[in-house]
Amino acid sequence: NRATSALLYLDGVHVSFDGFHAINNLSLALEPGEMRAIIGPNGAGKTTMMDIITGKTKPDEGTVMFDGKTDLTRLDETRIAELGIGRKFQKPTVFESQSVEDNLLLALNVDHSVKGTLFWRGSKVEAEQIDKVLETVRLKDVRRKLAGSLSHGQKQWLEIGMLLAQDPKLLLVDEPVAGMTDVETHQTAELLKAINKDHTVMVVEHDMTFVRELGVKVTCLHEGTVLAEGTIDQVSSNERVIEVYLGR
Ligand code: ADP
Repeated sequence: NRATSALLYLDGVHVSFDGFHAINNLSLALEPGEMRAIIGPNGAGKTTMMDIITGKTKPDEGTVMFDGKTDLTRLDETRIAELGIGRKFQKPTVFESQSVEDNLLLALNVDHSVKGTLFWRGSKVEAEQIDKVLETVRLKDVRRKLAGSLSHGQKQWLEIGMLLAQDPKLLLVDEPVAGMTDVETHQTAELLKAINKDHTVMVVEHDMTFVRELGVKVTCLHEGTVLAEGTIDQVSSNERVIEVYLGR
């Protein structure tokens, strides 16, 4: 059944803030190896859903299962990160005064149990791993530059690289192309497709050109629940989705 075969399985999830139902009977299953795009208007519950998966917000009701066996609702944020769930927030947060490769080296050595700080497990330079990540996130040519000198798009890629360095089982990416140029947006789609060859990815994004380019299954959220699911063509031609986006 889906609860055990899915990498991530949400069923009947509810979250309310002071009586307001931000998440209202949300159910969703992400298969291992899949990349899923999550769309939906502002206030649809996309951020809250990510917060639930990463343990930042606890649901009032419902199931949140990881890898068919782990009940995420019982675990705190640190433990969930240790399971291999990496989250990229919308704004890039890299160590600006460190080089690109040192940012990756730091990420390789993060110990999630030391919250908010970085902890060195050892001094071994995992050069091969770093090379591989630099290749994937297209930053090989700027590896010795300070992260602070990168373009906005490159900083986003570097942060994705920092998550990749930790080899996550599930990578959650929040609005990666916000503020990017068209070229960077296209390159980000290519980059995520490459990452998806080895990783399961969930990406929240408003940019429909980008979502179309990803070419993956799309879930449209509205009022805290799934409004439509399918290919981008199916979802974008769905009457309820059109109504929600155009406003009634
Ligand atoms: P999205 O990311 O799709 O824009 P959110 O998950 O941020 O949507 O928000 C869903 C709804 O829940 C919104 O109406 C928002 O105002 C509300 N909400 C989110 N977080 C809180 C909170 N901590 N307290 C009160 N309301 C919240």
